[in-house]
Amino acid sequence: MRPMPDNNTVAQSTDEARILAALKSSRAGWGVDEFMQQAAAAYYAGAKPFGREGDFITSPEISQMFGEMIGLWCADLWQQAGCPDAVTLAELGPGRGTLMADILRTARNWPAFHKALRIHLVETSPQLRKAQTAALADMNPVWHDRVDTLPRDAFSLIVSNEFFDALPVRQFVWQGGLWHERGILWDDARQKPVFTLLRAADEAAVQSIPAGITPKEGDIFEASPACRKIAAHLAAHIAQSGGACLAIDYGHAQSACGDTLQAVSKHKYADVLQNIGRQDITAHVDFGALGAAAARAGAHVFPVVTQGDFLNALGIAARAQQLAAKAKGAQKGQIPIDLHRLTAPSAMGVLFKVICWIRAGDALAPAGFQREG
Ligand code: SAH
Repeated sequence: MRPMPDNNTVAQSTDEARILAALKSSRAGWGVDEFMQQAAAAYYAGAKPFGREGDFITSPEISQMFGEMIGLWCADLWQQAGCPDAVTLAELGPGRGTLMADILRTARNWPAFHKALRIHLVETSPQLRKAQTAALADMNPVWHDRVDTLPRDAFSLIVSNEFFDALPVRQFVWQGGLWHERGILWDDARQKPVFTLLRAADEAAVQSIPAGITPKEGDIFEASPACRKIAAHLAAHIAQSGGACLAIDYGHAQSACGDTLQAVSKHKYADVLQNIGRQDITAHVDFGALGAAAARAGAHVFPVVTQGDFLNALGIAARAQQLAAKAKGAQKGQIPIDLHRLTAPSAMGVLFKVICWIRAGDALAPAGFQREG
């Protein structure tokens, strides 16, 4: 899945050379988070509009049905909230703008909802901002570098797909009865970057590892302070504005050990330490940690559901039938294939999860989620 490398190889090899030079001059090495941050920023800065030809494909790029279900989900919450006449609809990491365009098309079925929408996009890549401009120009979106500047003065619906997986993770290795920070050093003898244990993990990091984690020698635990911080910000946002946050991504529902750092190039897994800045680098999202951070910041967090269950609850199968009935030629056969890809447990239906939180005390019942107990 995801955006693809630019064809501008010169700019990209300069990025790789720059990143490696910085790594070489850092005697202490970089934590995995620092490395991921540098590599991902270079990758997305160069990313051109993407699709099936790229390094990976995301749910909104597979089928319009994905964004339509999220559009229904948003419209339903707007109605539950009493049809407010101003709504902040924000997306984090909108890629080519496809998901937002599909949400907005669906929203037109409720003209008062469509009219109420103010579109805000959190995106750091200049190239992808251009693609989003092309996809969404008629809605005058406002761009942000960070979630902190999203306006909190109106009922807010904040959505994301495959945003959190792009944020840096720290990796801790359990060795000799202690957690150690894993990192990357330049190996002079081999003239390449290598993984290493940098140091004993700091006390704050150790404290943040959930008590339920019982590691075996050599186990890796990943923690993403960046994900936790954004989740907390969004919880504070919703506490002020009312509304809901919805995040879809691949990952695990509960915190667990495992090395999930991965690089993908042209739909294949690749060596994380090669072609730095030219391949997509991500880690699985720890939904347990994400939800806990939002809950600590005061949100009501619903139990995580799988993407398959979520889309089915919203009626994606009926929508697929409707589209297939109208489709012609190859498109007719493609719709059930896309539906399967988005919802089947053997495809993206189970690996991908969905989390939602609202302001504590609000009576909203987001479609596809159930209150605990
Ligand atoms: N949501 C899109 C794209 C996913 S790729 C889709 O499903 O197709 C990840 C997106 O997050 C890209 O748009 C990337 O530029 C953006 N992104 C990555 N790190 C970011 C950060 N720290 N702040 C803002 N946007 C970021």
